[in-house]
Amino acid sequence: MSEYRFDTQAVHAGQEPDPVTGSVTPPIHMTTTFKLPEPGPRLMDALFLRGDRPPHVYSRWSNPSVRTLEEKMAALEGAEAGVAFASGMAAVSSVLFTFLSAGDHVVASDVCYAGTAELLGLHAGRYGIEVSLVDTSDAEAVRQALRPNTRLVYIETPANPILRLTDIAAVAGIAHQAGVPLVVDSTFATPVFQRPLALGADFVLHSMTKYLGGHGDALGGIVVGAREEVHRIREGMLIHLGGAMSPFNAWLINRGLATLSLRMQKHQSSALAVARFLEQHPKVRRVLYPGLESHPQHDLARRQMSGFGGMVVAQMDTETATNLVQQVGVFTYATSLGDYQSLLFYYPTEMYVDSAAYLDAEQKRAVREWAGDGIMRISIGLEDPEDLIADLDGALGSTG
Ligand SMILES: *Cc1c(COP(=O)(O)O)cnc(C)c1O
Repeated sequence: MSEYRFDTQAVHAGQEPDPVTGSVTPPIHMTTTFKLPEPGPRLMDALFLRGDRPPHVYSRWSNPSVRTLEEKMAALEGAEAGVAFASGMAAVSSVLFTFLSAGDHVVASDVCYAGTAELLGLHAGRYGIEVSLVDTSDAEAVRQALRPNTRLVYIETPANPILRLTDIAAVAGIAHQAGVPLVVDSTFATPVFQRPLALGADFVLHSMTKYLGGHGDALGGIVVGAREEVHRIREGMLIHLGGAMSPFNAWLINRGLATLSLRMQKHQSSALAVARFLEQHPKVRRVLYPGLESHPQHDLARRQMSGFGGMVVAQMDTETATNLVQQVGVFTYATSLGDYQSLLFYYPTEMYVDSAAYLDAEQKRAVREWAGDGIMRISIGLEDPEDLIADLDGALGSTG
Protein backbone atom coordinates (compact mmCIF):
# COMPACT_ATOMS: atom_id res chain seq x y z
CA MET A 1 0.00 0.00 0.00
CA SER A 2 2.91 2.35 0.60
CA GLU A 3 2.94 3.55 -3.02
CA TYR A 4 -0.46 5.22 -2.52
CA ARG A 5 -1.16 8.72 -1.23
CA PHE A 6 -2.71 9.63 2.10
CA ASP A 7 -6.44 9.62 1.31
CA THR A 8 -6.17 6.36 -0.62
CA GLN A 9 -4.40 4.76 2.35
CA ALA A 10 -7.02 6.16 4.73
CA VAL A 11 -9.64 4.24 2.75
CA HIS A 12 -7.78 1.05 1.83
CA ALA A 13 -4.72 0.34 4.02
CA GLY A 14 -5.08 -2.77 6.19
CA GLN A 15 -8.38 -3.85 4.69
CA GLU A 16 -9.65 -5.74 1.66
CA PRO A 17 -12.91 -7.47 0.77
CA ASP A 18 -13.40 -10.41 3.13
CA PRO A 19 -11.84 -13.44 1.39
CA VAL A 20 -14.53 -15.82 2.71
CA THR A 21 -17.78 -13.88 2.20
CA GLY A 22 -16.78 -11.12 -0.24
CA SER A 23 -18.04 -8.51 2.24
CA VAL A 24 -16.61 -5.18 1.04
CA THR A 25 -16.90 -3.48 4.42
CA PRO A 26 -14.64 -5.27 6.88
CA PRO A 27 -16.59 -7.47 9.32
CA ILE A 28 -16.42 -6.87 13.07
CA HIS A 29 -14.57 -9.82 14.53
CA MET A 30 -16.29 -10.12 17.89
CA THR A 31 -14.41 -13.13 19.16
CA THR A 32 -12.15 -13.63 22.12
CA THR A 33 -10.28 -16.65 20.80
CA PHE A 34 -9.21 -18.26 17.52
CA LYS A 35 -8.91 -21.82 16.22
CA LEU A 36 -5.23 -22.68 16.46
CA PRO A 37 -2.98 -24.45 13.95
CA GLU A 38 -1.93 -28.01 14.87
CA PRO A 39 0.69 -28.23 17.64
CA GLY A 40 3.94 -27.58 15.78
CA PRO A 41 6.04 -24.71 14.36
CA ARG A 42 3.03 -22.65 13.17
CA LEU A 43 1.50 -22.83 16.63
CA MET A 44 4.79 -21.63 18.13
CA ASP A 45 4.86 -18.70 15.65
CA ALA A 46 1.36 -17.77 16.72
CA LEU A 47 2.02 -18.04 20.46
CA PHE A 48 5.24 -16.03 20.26
CA LEU A 49 3.89 -13.46 17.76
CA ARG A 50 6.63 -14.30 15.24
CA GLY A 51 6.55 -12.69 11.80
CA ASP A 52 4.75 -9.63 10.42
CA ARG A 53 1.25 -11.02 10.63
CA PRO A 54 1.27 -13.95 13.04
CA PRO A 55 -1.93 -16.03 13.23
CA HIS A 56 -4.38 -14.71 15.83
CA VAL A 57 -4.51 -16.59 19.14
CA TYR A 58 -6.52 -14.57 21.62
CA SER A 59 -7.98 -11.05 21.29
CA ARG A 60 -5.85 -9.49 24.02
CA TRP A 61 -2.83 -10.23 21.80
CA SER A 62 -4.32 -9.40 18.42
CA ASN A 63 -7.64 -9.43 16.59
CA PRO A 64 -8.42 -9.01 12.85
CA SER A 65 -10.57 -5.87 13.32
CA VAL A 66 -7.91 -4.30 15.54
CA ARG A 67 -5.13 -5.32 13.14
CA THR A 68 -6.88 -3.55 10.26
CA LEU A 69 -6.85 -0.36 12.31
CA GLU A 70 -3.20 -0.83 13.38
CA GLU A 71 -2.05 -1.35 9.79
CA LYS A 72 -4.03 1.63 8.52
CA MET A 73 -2.64 3.94 11.21
CA ALA A 74 0.92 2.74 10.59
CA ALA A 75 0.43 3.52 6.87
CA LEU A 76 -0.94 7.00 7.62
CA GLU A 77 1.99 7.88 9.89
CA GLY A 78 4.59 6.29 7.61
CA ALA A 79 5.51 3.75 10.30
CA GLU A 80 6.44 0.07 10.04
CA ALA A 81 3.89 -1.07 12.61
CA GLY A 82 1.34 -0.03 15.21
CA VAL A 83 -0.28 -1.40 18.34
CA ALA A 84 -3.74 -0.28 19.44
CA PHE A 85 -5.02 0.01 23.01
CA ALA A 86 -8.32 0.46 24.81
CA SER A 87 -7.70 4.20 25.32
CA GLY A 88 -5.21 6.95 24.64
CA MET A 89 -3.94 6.68 28.22
CA ALA A 90 -3.30 2.94 27.79
CA ALA A 91 -1.11 3.86 24.81
CA VAL A 92 0.69 6.58 26.83
CA SER A 93 1.31 4.37 29.87
CA SER A 94 2.42 1.41 27.72
CA VAL A 95 5.04 3.40 25.86
CA LEU A 96 6.35 4.96 29.09
CA PHE A 97 6.56 1.68 30.98
CA THR A 98 8.17 -0.15 28.06
CA PHE A 99 11.16 2.18 28.02
CA LEU A 100 11.39 3.25 31.67
CA SER A 101 12.41 1.10 34.61
CA ALA A 102 13.35 1.90 38.20
CA GLY A 103 16.42 4.18 38.19
CA ASP A 104 15.67 5.61 34.72
CA HIS A 105 14.88 9.23 33.91
CA VAL A 106 12.44 10.78 31.44
CA VAL A 107 12.25 14.34 30.13
CA ALA A 108 8.66 15.38 29.35
CA SER A 109 6.64 18.49 28.55
CA ASP A 110 5.52 20.40 31.65
CA VAL A 111 2.21 20.99 29.87
CA CYS A 112 0.52 18.00 28.33
CA TYR A 113 -2.76 16.12 28.54
CA ALA A 114 -3.79 16.04 32.21
CA GLY A 115 -3.79 12.25 32.43
CA THR A 116 -0.22 12.09 31.15
CA ALA A 117 0.91 14.94 33.43
CA GLU A 118 -0.63 13.16 36.41
CA LEU A 119 0.81 9.75 35.48
CA LEU A 120 4.28 11.29 35.25
CA GLY A 121 3.86 13.69 38.15
CA LEU A 122 2.01 11.53 40.68
CA HIS A 123 2.78 7.88 39.86
CA ALA A 124 6.08 7.45 37.99
CA GLY A 125 8.02 8.20 41.19
CA ARG A 126 6.41 5.25 42.97
CA TYR A 127 8.09 2.96 40.45
CA GLY A 128 11.48 4.59 40.91
CA ILE A 129 11.33 6.57 37.65
CA GLU A 130 12.79 10.08 37.74
CA VAL A 131 10.84 12.74 35.84
CA SER A 132 11.89 16.19 34.64
CA LEU A 133 8.98 18.31 33.43
CA VAL A 134 10.31 21.13 31.25
CA ASP A 135 8.99 23.66 28.77
CA THR A 136 9.80 21.66 25.65
CA SER A 137 8.95 24.60 23.38
CA ASP A 138 12.48 25.61 24.42
CA ALA A 139 14.67 22.90 22.85
CA GLU A 140 17.67 24.03 24.95
CA ALA A 141 15.66 23.30 28.11
CA VAL A 142 15.32 19.72 26.89
CA ARG A 143 19.08 19.44 26.33
CA GLN A 144 19.80 20.80 29.79
CA ALA A 145 17.38 18.41 31.46
CA LEU A 146 19.10 15.31 30.04
CA ARG A 147 20.94 13.11 32.54
CA PRO A 148 23.18 10.07 32.09
CA ASN A 149 20.21 7.85 33.02
CA THR A 150 17.70 9.54 30.66
CA ARG A 151 15.97 6.86 28.60
CA LEU A 152 13.14 8.75 26.89
CA VAL A 153 12.05 12.20 25.74
CA TYR A 154 8.28 12.65 25.66
CA ILE A 155 6.50 15.60 24.03
CA GLU A 156 3.01 16.56 23.01
CA THR A 157 2.55 19.03 20.15
CA PRO A 158 0.31 20.96 19.85
CA ALA A 159 -0.07 20.58 23.62
CA ASN A 160 -3.41 20.09 25.32
CA PRO A 161 -4.80 22.43 26.55
CA ILE A 162 -2.70 25.51 25.71
CA LEU A 163 -1.79 24.82 22.06
CA ARG A 164 1.90 25.34 22.71
CA LEU A 165 4.13 23.72 20.07
CA THR A 166 7.42 21.87 20.34
CA ASP A 167 9.92 21.81 17.47
CA ILE A 168 9.90 18.08 16.73
CA ALA A 169 13.01 18.05 14.50
CA ALA A 170 15.07 20.08 17.02
CA VAL A 171 14.08 17.93 19.99
CA ALA A 172 14.57 14.70 17.98
CA GLY A 173 18.13 15.87 17.22
CA ILE A 174 18.83 16.51 20.90
CA ALA A 175 17.32 13.20 22.02
CA HIS A 176 19.26 11.23 19.41
CA GLN A 177 22.54 12.92 20.35
CA ALA A 178 21.94 11.49 23.81
CA GLY A 179 20.98 8.12 22.30
CA VAL A 180 17.38 8.16 23.53
CA PRO A 181 14.14 7.85 21.57
CA LEU A 182 11.59 10.67 21.13
CA VAL A 183 7.88 9.98 21.61
CA VAL A 184 5.33 12.46 20.22
CA ASP A 185 1.69 12.63 21.26
CA SER A 186 0.25 13.98 17.99
CA THR A 187 -3.44 13.70 18.94
CA PHE A 188 -4.31 17.35 18.21
CA ALA A 189 -2.67 17.41 14.78
CA THR A 190 -3.59 13.95 13.43
CA PRO A 191 -1.51 12.51 10.57
CA VAL A 192 -3.42 14.80 8.21
CA PHE A 193 -1.53 17.84 9.51
CA GLN A 194 1.67 16.49 11.12
CA ARG A 195 4.02 13.52 10.51
CA PRO A 196 6.39 13.34 13.47
CA LEU A 197 8.29 10.30 12.16
CA ALA A 198 9.31 12.21 9.03
CA LEU A 199 10.66 14.93 11.34
CA GLY A 200 12.82 12.45 13.26
CA ALA A 201 10.57 11.18 16.07
CA ASP A 202 10.78 7.48 16.93
CA PHE A 203 7.23 6.86 18.11
CA VAL A 204 3.93 8.63 17.52
CA LEU A 205 0.95 8.06 19.74
CA HIS A 206 -2.65 9.17 19.52
CA SER A 207 -5.77 9.19 21.57
CA MET A 208 -7.95 7.78 18.78
CA THR A 209 -10.92 8.79 20.95
CA LYS A 210 -10.57 12.25 19.44
CA TYR A 211 -10.25 13.13 15.73
CA LEU A 212 -9.30 9.70 14.42
CA GLY A 213 -12.56 8.11 15.56
CA GLY A 214 -14.14 11.53 15.16
CA HIS A 215 -17.66 10.67 16.23
CA GLY A 216 -17.41 10.81 20.02
CA ASP A 217 -18.46 7.19 20.38
CA ALA A 218 -15.37 5.06 21.00
CA LEU A 219 -12.29 5.22 23.22
CA GLY A 220 -9.01 4.09 21.71
CA GLY A 221 -5.27 4.70 21.57
CA ILE A 222 -2.36 3.70 19.37
CA VAL A 223 1.43 3.74 19.26
CA VAL A 224 3.25 3.48 15.92
CA GLY A 225 6.99 3.11 15.22
CA ALA A 226 9.62 0.59 14.14
CA ARG A 227 8.36 -2.99 13.91
CA GLU A 228 10.63 -4.53 16.55
CA GLU A 229 9.95 -1.82 19.10
CA VAL A 230 6.21 -1.94 18.53
CA HIS A 231 6.41 -5.71 18.96
CA ARG A 232 8.16 -5.11 22.30
CA ILE A 233 5.36 -2.78 23.41
CA ARG A 234 2.70 -5.30 22.39
CA GLU A 235 4.43 -8.21 24.12
CA GLY A 236 5.39 -6.37 27.28
CA MET A 237 2.46 -4.05 27.78
CA LEU A 238 -0.61 -4.99 25.75
CA ILE A 239 -0.44 -8.65 26.67
CA HIS A 240 0.64 -8.16 30.29
CA LEU A 241 -1.02 -4.90 31.33
CA GLY A 242 -4.04 -5.94 29.31
CA GLY A 243 -5.47 -2.68 27.94
CA ALA A 244 -6.77 -4.33 24.77
CA MET A 245 -9.09 -2.49 22.38
CA SER A 246 -12.54 -3.88 21.70
CA PRO A 247 -12.96 -5.11 18.08
CA PHE A 248 -16.14 -3.04 17.91
CA ASN A 249 -14.27 0.15 18.82
CA ALA A 250 -11.56 -0.74 16.28
CA TRP A 251 -14.24 -1.08 13.62
CA LEU A 252 -15.80 2.29 14.52
CA ILE A 253 -12.46 4.10 14.53
CA ASN A 254 -11.42 2.45 11.26
CA ARG A 255 -14.64 3.76 9.75
CA GLY A 256 -13.79 7.21 11.10
CA LEU A 257 -10.41 7.16 9.37
CA ALA A 258 -12.00 6.94 5.92
CA THR A 259 -13.30 10.52 6.34
CA LEU A 260 -10.44 11.87 8.49
CA SER A 261 -8.94 14.16 5.92
CA LEU A 262 -12.28 15.66 4.83
CA ARG A 263 -13.25 16.23 8.45
CA MET A 264 -9.91 17.82 9.37
CA GLN A 265 -10.18 20.34 6.53
CA LYS A 266 -13.62 21.40 7.76
CA HIS A 267 -12.57 21.46 11.46
CA GLN A 268 -9.65 23.64 10.44
CA SER A 269 -11.45 26.17 8.24
CA SER A 270 -14.19 26.65 10.84
CA ALA A 271 -11.62 26.89 13.66
CA LEU A 272 -9.83 29.70 11.85
CA ALA A 273 -13.12 31.57 11.36
CA VAL A 274 -14.04 31.16 15.04
CA ALA A 275 -10.53 32.16 16.16
CA ARG A 276 -10.67 35.35 14.08
CA PHE A 277 -14.11 36.16 15.50
CA LEU A 278 -12.98 35.62 19.11
CA GLU A 279 -9.79 37.58 18.58
CA GLN A 280 -11.73 40.81 18.02
CA HIS A 281 -14.30 40.21 20.80
CA PRO A 282 -13.94 42.67 23.71
CA LYS A 283 -14.70 40.03 26.38
CA VAL A 284 -11.91 37.72 25.16
CA ARG A 285 -8.48 38.61 26.48
CA ARG A 286 -6.43 36.43 24.19
CA VAL A 287 -6.93 33.75 21.55
CA LEU A 288 -4.46 30.99 20.79
CA TYR A 289 -4.72 29.13 17.50
CA PRO A 290 -1.60 27.98 15.63
CA GLY A 291 -3.12 29.25 12.37
CA LEU A 292 -3.37 32.85 13.62
CA GLU A 293 -0.49 35.18 12.84
CA SER A 294 -0.69 36.23 16.50
CA HIS A 295 0.22 32.74 17.78
CA PRO A 296 3.73 33.07 19.23
CA GLN A 297 4.85 29.98 17.30
CA HIS A 298 2.97 30.57 14.05
CA ASP A 299 6.20 30.22 12.04
CA LEU A 300 7.00 26.86 13.62
CA ALA A 301 3.40 25.76 12.99
CA ARG A 302 3.81 26.62 9.30
CA ARG A 303 7.11 24.76 9.18
CA GLN A 304 6.21 21.49 10.86
CA MET A 305 2.46 21.22 10.27
CA SER A 306 0.56 21.21 7.00
CA GLY A 307 -2.58 22.52 8.74
CA PHE A 308 -3.49 23.93 12.14
CA GLY A 309 -6.29 21.70 13.40
CA GLY A 310 -9.66 22.30 14.99
CA MET A 311 -8.78 23.37 18.54
CA VAL A 312 -9.00 27.00 19.65
CA VAL A 313 -8.16 28.39 23.07
CA ALA A 314 -9.57 31.65 24.44
CA GLN A 315 -8.64 33.38 27.70
CA MET A 316 -11.45 35.09 29.56
CA ASP A 317 -12.42 35.85 33.13
CA THR A 318 -14.29 33.27 35.18
CA GLU A 319 -17.57 35.18 35.20
CA THR A 320 -17.64 35.49 31.40
CA ALA A 321 -16.72 31.83 31.04
CA THR A 322 -19.29 30.63 33.58
CA ASN A 323 -22.05 32.53 31.80
CA LEU A 324 -20.90 31.43 28.38
CA VAL A 325 -20.96 27.71 29.13
CA GLN A 326 -24.53 28.06 30.38
CA GLN A 327 -25.77 30.14 27.43
CA VAL A 328 -24.42 28.21 24.44
CA GLY A 329 -26.89 26.15 22.43
CA VAL A 330 -24.92 24.66 19.52
CA PHE A 331 -21.79 24.06 21.61
CA THR A 332 -21.97 21.68 24.57
CA TYR A 333 -20.03 22.27 27.78
CA ALA A 334 -18.21 18.95 27.93
CA THR A 335 -14.70 17.64 28.08
CA SER A 336 -13.09 15.66 25.21
CA LEU A 337 -12.50 16.97 21.70
CA GLY A 338 -12.25 16.02 18.05
CA ASP A 339 -15.93 15.15 17.94
CA TYR A 340 -18.21 16.03 14.99
CA GLN A 341 -20.12 18.10 17.57
CA SER A 342 -18.62 21.31 18.92
CA LEU A 343 -17.56 21.10 22.57
CA LEU A 344 -16.07 23.57 24.97
CA PHE A 345 -14.36 23.08 28.28
CA TYR A 346 -13.32 25.52 30.96
CA TYR A 347 -12.10 25.40 34.45
CA PRO A 348 -10.63 28.19 36.46
CA THR A 349 -6.83 28.38 36.76
CA GLU A 350 -7.11 28.36 40.55
CA MET A 351 -8.85 24.95 40.48
CA TYR A 352 -6.19 23.60 38.13
CA VAL A 353 -3.30 24.88 40.21
CA ASP A 354 -4.84 23.51 43.42
CA SER A 355 -5.19 20.05 41.88
CA ALA A 356 -1.71 19.94 40.29
CA ALA A 357 0.23 18.57 43.26
CA TYR A 358 3.14 17.68 40.94
CA LEU A 359 3.91 21.31 40.05
CA ASP A 360 6.30 23.26 42.26
CA ALA A 361 5.58 26.82 43.41
CA GLU A 362 7.47 28.37 40.50
CA GLN A 363 5.65 26.21 37.95
CA LYS A 364 2.31 27.14 39.55
CA ARG A 365 3.20 30.82 39.37
CA ALA A 366 4.08 30.40 35.67
CA VAL A 367 0.75 28.67 34.93
CA ARG A 368 -1.17 31.47 36.71
CA GLU A 369 0.72 34.12 34.82
CA TRP A 370 0.21 32.39 31.49
CA ALA A 371 -3.45 31.44 31.81
CA GLY A 372 -4.87 34.36 33.81
CA ASP A 373 -8.23 33.39 35.37
CA GLY A 374 -8.63 30.47 33.04
CA ILE A 375 -8.78 29.22 29.50
CA MET A 376 -11.71 28.08 27.41
CA ARG A 377 -10.67 25.10 25.29
CA ILE A 378 -12.89 24.97 22.23
CA SER A 379 -13.21 21.92 19.98
CA ILE A 380 -14.70 23.07 16.69
CA GLY A 381 -17.08 20.49 15.23
CA LEU A 382 -18.55 20.03 11.78
CA GLU A 383 -21.53 22.37 12.13
CA ASP A 384 -21.82 25.50 9.96
CA PRO A 385 -19.21 28.00 11.15
CA GLU A 386 -21.74 30.86 10.91
CA ASP A 387 -23.93 29.08 13.49
CA LEU A 388 -20.94 28.43 15.77
CA ILE A 389 -19.93 32.09 15.68
CA ALA A 390 -23.52 33.26 16.24
CA ASP A 391 -23.79 30.87 19.21
CA LEU A 392 -20.62 32.22 20.83
CA ASP A 393 -21.54 35.80 19.99
CA GLY A 394 -24.96 35.43 21.64
CA ALA A 395 -23.54 33.67 24.70
CA LEU A 396 -20.75 36.23 25.15
CA GLY A 397 -23.13 39.13 24.56
CA SER A 398 -25.50 37.91 27.25
CA THR A 399 -22.77 37.99 29.88
CA GLY A 400 -22.56 40.92 32.31
C1 LIG B 1 -7.54 12.70 25.32
C2 LIG B 1 -6.07 12.72 25.22
C3 LIG B 1 -5.31 11.66 25.73
C4 LIG B 1 -5.91 10.49 26.47
O1 LIG B 1 -6.73 9.73 25.65
P1 LIG B 1 -7.96 8.83 26.17
O2 LIG B 1 -8.42 8.18 24.92
O3 LIG B 1 -8.95 9.76 26.79
O4 LIG B 1 -7.41 7.88 27.17
C5 LIG B 1 -3.93 11.70 25.54
N1 LIG B 1 -3.34 12.75 24.92
C6 LIG B 1 -4.06 13.79 24.43
C7 LIG B 1 -3.35 14.91 23.76
C8 LIG B 1 -5.44 13.81 24.57
O5 LIG B 1 -6.14 14.85 24.11
